Amino acid sequence: MSVKRVYTFGDKKAEGRADMKNLLGGKGANLAEMNLIGVPVPPGFTITTEVCTEYNQLGSEKVVELLRKDVEAAVKQVEDIMGTRFGSNENPCLVSVRSGSRASMPGMMDTILNLGLNDDAVEGLIKRTGNARFAWDSYRRFVQMYGDVVLGLKPASKEEMDPFEVIIDEMKEEKGVELDTDLTVEDLKNLVTRFKAAVKKNTGKDFPFDPWEQLWGAIMAVFDSWNNDRAVYYRKLNRIPDDWGTAVNVQAMVFGNMGENSGTGVAFTRDAATGEDIFNGEYLINAQGEDVVAGIRTPQQITKIGSQRWATLANVSETDRATRFPSLEEAMPAVFTELNTIQQKLEDHYQDMQDLEFTIQDGKLWLLQTRNGKRTGAAMVKIAMDMLRQGKIDEKTVIKRMEPNKLDELLHPVFDKNAIKKATVLAKGLPASPGAATGQIVFHADEAEEWAAAGKKVVLVRIETSPEDLKGMNVAEGILTARGGMTSHAAVVARGMGKCCVSGAGSLQINYKTRSIKADGQEFKEGDWISLNGSTGEVYEGKITTIDPELSGDFGELMLLADKYSRLKVRTNADTPHDATVARNFGAIGIGLCRTEHMFFEGDRIKAVREMILADNEAGRRKALAKLLPIQRGDFEGIFEAMQGLPVTVRLLDPPLHEFVPHEEANQKEMAEEMGITPEEVRSKVESLHEFNPMLGHRGCRLGNTYPEITEMQVRAIIEAALNLKKRGIEAHPEIMIPLTGTFEEMKLQEKITRKTIDQVFAERNESIDYLVGTMIEVPRAALVADQIAQSAEFFSFGTNDLTQMTFGYSRDDAGKFLPVYLQKGILKEDPFQVLDQEGVGQLVQMAVEKGRSSRPKLKIGICGEHGGEPSSVEFCHRVGMDYVSCSPFRVPIARLAAAQAAV
Ligand code: PEP
Ligand code: MG
Repeated sequence: MSVKRVYTFGDKKAEGRADMKNLLGGKGANLAEMNLIGVPVPPGFTITTEVCTEYNQLGSEKVVELLRKDVEAAVKQVEDIMGTRFGSNENPCLVSVRSGSRASMPGMMDTILNLGLNDDAVEGLIKRTGNARFAWDSYRRFVQMYGDVVLGLKPASKEEMDPFEVIIDEMKEEKGVELDTDLTVEDLKNLVTRFKAAVKKNTGKDFPFDPWEQLWGAIMAVFDSWNNDRAVYYRKLNRIPDDWGTAVNVQAMVFGNMGENSGTGVAFTRDAATGEDIFNGEYLINAQGEDVVAGIRTPQQITKIGSQRWATLANVSETDRATRFPSLEEAMPAVFTELNTIQQKLEDHYQDMQDLEFTIQDGKLWLLQTRNGKRTGAAMVKIAMDMLRQGKIDEKTVIKRMEPNKLDELLHPVFDKNAIKKATVLAKGLPASPGAATGQIVFHADEAEEWAAAGKKVVLVRIETSPEDLKGMNVAEGILTARGGMTSHAAVVARGMGKCCVSGAGSLQINYKTRSIKADGQEFKEGDWISLNGSTGEVYEGKITTIDPELSGDFGELMLLADKYSRLKVRTNADTPHDATVARNFGAIGIGLCRTEHMFFEGDRIKAVREMILADNEAGRRKALAKLLPIQRGDFEGIFEAMQGLPVTVRLLDPPLHEFVPHEEANQKEMAEEMGITPEEVRSKVESLHEFNPMLGHRGCRLGNTYPEITEMQVRAIIEAALNLKKRGIEAHPEIMIPLTGTFEEMKLQEKITRKTIDQVFAERNESIDYLVGTMIEVPRAALVADQIAQSAEFFSFGTNDLTQMTFGYSRDDAGKFLPVYLQKGILKEDPFQVLDQEGVGQLVQMAVEKGRSSRPKLKIGICGEHGGEPSSVEFCHRVGMDYVSCSPFRVPIARLAAAQAAV
């Protein structure tokens, strides 16, 4: 069977269709479709994306051979429809050659306009239009574009100016004029000659006279541009596969720069920023496409109402507006009416907001492109919900159309759009926790508290954070660290709080002694203002205004819709009543992970924790634990109360004990004074707790099994809290979770201690409640023997942070040293701490689900690692049959939507 490589369109006929995007690219498929529904489109043809792959494998000569016959026939068809001829000195056919891949990659690849011009054809163009200036300017633009894109005459370095612009500037100087438009026809002719000479001199190539040679060169150059740096970078950023390739669209030129009755513009069928259902856009009279985006002239609005709104913002009087900047609606009413009808037709046809490009040539309207418009998170929600209410799309389409991660924009403060334009970026780190923050630099958590208490806004800047910094983080507007990855302490805690955080900004030199940061050659001191964008990882100099989010009615309705279709439940990771309440308001239906260690740092309790750690024997530990018991019980009561009868998974103590003692000398001294012992005693205890690999050391259930009294105290606090609430008529459903289990025996022993303690409390109180005892699956061995562990555990929760760490053997805290390089070199496609590695870690998860349920069919299974709020990972959790995902409060809406998408 012969392969079809070229698809023609024109005169309301087309060989392609809208649903052929994979083959024809978005632009090509939509050009075909517009023809089919009767929208005026200049005729042309699309060379498929598959040819791009052939080109990369076979090279240009072979590909030209494969294409020649079809392309020649397709050009003939264009010539016939337009009544023009390639290279004719009477009536030349000019074409544009444009890229167009499956996913839109705006501006990333190359485009060539006015192709087909040479010294003969330019005469033809003059005959046809009677406009020598226009013809020579088009020729000048063509030689410039082709010389750059195809023949490769580019600036020698990034400091240097574009060589063509240099020639134009020389010409203007010779002529003593300032503007391009002041150059005469003779000057433009002269420019063409000089441009060609410069191309020959610098590249050794003759500028091709033959339009066919021009065309083949341009087609191959567009294929080449699939692999230019910009395009490769954009694909990486947007996770577009490298092997998709681009299509090439060749289309008859229409001209917006043929005089006052011509023009060009872009338009949106709805507002891409707010989602408002109003047609809007910009145009320029007597201009070509690139003039609208280049920002040289002030574009005018398409509708009168848009124009009036613009005038108010731009401080332009109504008379000035109407005379100097009239809308298309006022300037060319007939064209506007046609455009307005077409935009409605296109939106109705595609049932989504469209982004259009159009050109008016001598009063006739042509559409050059339509595509689903890019939009903000707010617009995404509003447009879909409006279209649902307007009966244009159904509920499942609404859900499918959402990009869950974009909801984030709706939940956090953002920078004021105008303010951010003027801001200077100092450094870039990881976008660890989204939102925008602006505040004064402080370097120590306790000082952050003092400054905040004095009413100041602060950004806490640390080389890295530890659990001790929790309170400082809590009062700060945002957190900035020089070290640490996406699952570093700072990142995890900040996400939990919904607090903006940029982590791992390695180029910052933070000096605690001098209380200063060196960044980008500048120095910043304590008290200086900086701003963070936790959604992009950018760190800015100075103060930038932020705006609080507004959760509109549409957002709430969308969430209800998501719940209607999803099977997976969404819980939250929360350690405080405040976080629990925030998450419930976002629709969490339980807590999937309460990390109890975070409670150990609040108020005076760290003192009791340290007493326990300092104790040399069980009796000493029990004495200290007795002081902690009422405090923990109080904590749990607060959380259970906030969750009002929803299930709460409480994890027993997990981190290695060294995290609770100070490592800096000054702090050790302070601790010694507080505890009434010598600094030497503190130091020696800290030393004895030292481990080479603490994350693989004495932590998790290894603590609870060596010091069962810790487990006993925590379990007692949980159960007593639940019983206290019961007395007050509030239900509580505790699920006690054992961390870091790796063997059946580890789990069994913890289960035994837990159940025995609970029975004791029940007997003392002569009362009982329902509860579960389960475990985290976060050590690879636990996944391998999950059938055994499920004999003791009533539920599993996958701790994919640790499971990823141990499966890859990458340290959660230090992987920042090489992960960025791995991602850049393509050794890894994604950061496995952000996006679950389904291929490797996923196998362990799936195996554990199957094995677990083989010995306990009703085993309740969830995930509480950071992946629980990441859409593609949520989809995986749905697929392997988990019951719920648990994520930080501000990711709950995203997970709810992702769960619904997985189900529909
Ligand atoms: C995990 O390891 O995935 C987890 C949730 O526990 P933590 O992050 O507290 O180690
Ligand atoms: Mg863990």
